Amino acid sequence: MTAGTLETQAPAAPGTRVRGWWPDVIGAAAAFSMLIVVALWIHNQGLQQLANSATTFDSLGRLTGLVSADLLLVQVFLMARVPQIERSFGQDRLARWHRVVGFTSFDLMLAHIVLITLGYAATDHAGVIHEFVDFVLNYPGMLLATAGTVALILIVVTSLRAARRRLRYESWHLLHLYAYLGAGLAIPHELWTGTDFVGNVAATAYWWTVYGIAAGSVLAFRIGLPLWRSRRHGLVVSEVVPETPGVVSVYLSGRNLDRLRVRAGQFFHWRFLSGPGWTRAHPYSLSAAPRPDRLRITVKELGDGSAGARALRPGTRVLIEGPYGQMGAVGRTRQKLTMIASGIGITPLRALLEELPYGPGEATLLYRAHTPDGFTFRDELDELAARRGVRVVYLPGPRASDSSWGPVGDVEDEMLLVRLVPDIVEQDVYVCGPDGWMASAANAARLIGVPEQQLHLEWFSW
Ligand SMILES: Cc1cc2nc3c(=O)[nH]c(=O)nc-3n(C[C@H](O)[C@H](O)[C@H](O)COP(=O)(O)OP(=O)(O)OC[C@H]3O[C@@H](n4cnc5c(N)ncnc54)[C@H](O)[C@@H]3O)c2cc1C
Repeated sequence: MTAGTLETQAPAAPGTRVRGWWPDVIGAAAAFSMLIVVALWIHNQGLQQLANSATTFDSLGRLTGLVSADLLLVQVFLMARVPQIERSFGQDRLARWHRVVGFTSFDLMLAHIVLITLGYAATDHAGVIHEFVDFVLNYPGMLLATAGTVALILIVVTSLRAARRRLRYESWHLLHLYAYLGAGLAIPHELWTGTDFVGNVAATAYWWTVYGIAAGSVLAFRIGLPLWRSRRHGLVVSEVVPETPGVVSVYLSGRNLDRLRVRAGQFFHWRFLSGPGWTRAHPYSLSAAPRPDRLRITVKELGDGSAGARALRPGTRVLIEGPYGQMGAVGRTRQKLTMIASGIGITPLRALLEELPYGPGEATLLYRAHTPDGFTFRDELDELAARRGVRVVYLPGPRASDSSWGPVGDVEDEMLLVRLVPDIVEQDVYVCGPDGWMASAANAARLIGVPEQQLHLEWFSW
């Protein structure tokens, strides 16, 4: 199919960047929750105990444990895929925050364990190891909390960059789900031994509310909403079309797809109900502007999951989670635009070129591929060039260096951008491709002065 046959929904109007007020609400709520936790600790004699040398460790241990638990719940909430939060922050940015908040919560949890043990050992005049073993074996809920801690240690160790690189994504992701187990197993020791949790009605109400919000959001937005949406739209595979070597397009049909409220530039997590692999969702961007009766994704074979796309049969049912992603939802800041794509990173940009409003000569596509046969959608792009006046520049060849976005040539990266698009600093710039390449392309754009608010990036890994 060519782009000319795609009948699109109404184009997104150019406008200002849609940030909304959700980031402020979420930031304020997270800060407020910290304040409540500290206030409850103070109310429960935290400061007085801090000043008393016999209870200093214990008091600090309680504070670190409370803040750690609060941060753990904040990040469960942030990763619950609440639509407004996804739209405001984007999954890539949320994933980066999740990492920072997660490591902070984990460090505080370790501090909590050490400080509480030291505090009790001092009070009981016992050895630290003896006190720790006594804790685990004899205090209510502590065995479960220890199991939860082991689960969280497993997650943190496997999330360290070096370890993460060695693990298959699926294995890492499966292990990561133990975070819920870790958070859940900590509850009994908090309720049975934590005076800050059950010491007064306000504390009990607060902790049950935040646990309820975190658990409720996960159930509603990670399970309930995707199931409801998938059932409502009844998506099935209608056709699988080979594109370039190792790349296939999957066409999907369904009911009332206009009510999905998805835009070009966005992505879903897809589960194809064609066999055991359905348990693993994979994110793929739309590669064509959405139509009321049809969506299209285009998949490059990388591993088990993506290789399965080629074998999909028409009629295969599909579960979706989404739509997510800011590239389509975030507004334009300039009338002219340049898209810089590499390899399969062309997918969201190809859809955006179809949907976004611009006049002849106002859009440029710089398309990189290692070899000339690596350019997917060549016919469709040439058709877009003829029909809508997009200037398409194909740039085949190996990268000049590991930190370069352009092919081997006689000019530096930034200069190549200026040479190809002299007024690029006056344009919106959309970039998508493999991580390292993308960082180089975005960096080159920044170096020549493209302001941050004009840069629109879609990372294909988090
Ligand atoms: C927002 C987004 C949009 C994407 N759009 C496209 C697209 O339009 N076309 C396309 O071909 N590819 C796209 N990708 C990449 C695609 O999701 C991965 O290539 C695919 O999931 C690889 O799975 P695999 O089992 O075949 O390979 P594996 O060998 O298991 O994984 C290869 C790499 O892909 C990444 N990956 C694997 N599974 C996931 C997952 N569930 N979530 C996030 N990352 C994962 C990991 O970084 C991993 O190292 C997109 C990724 C993201 C994050």
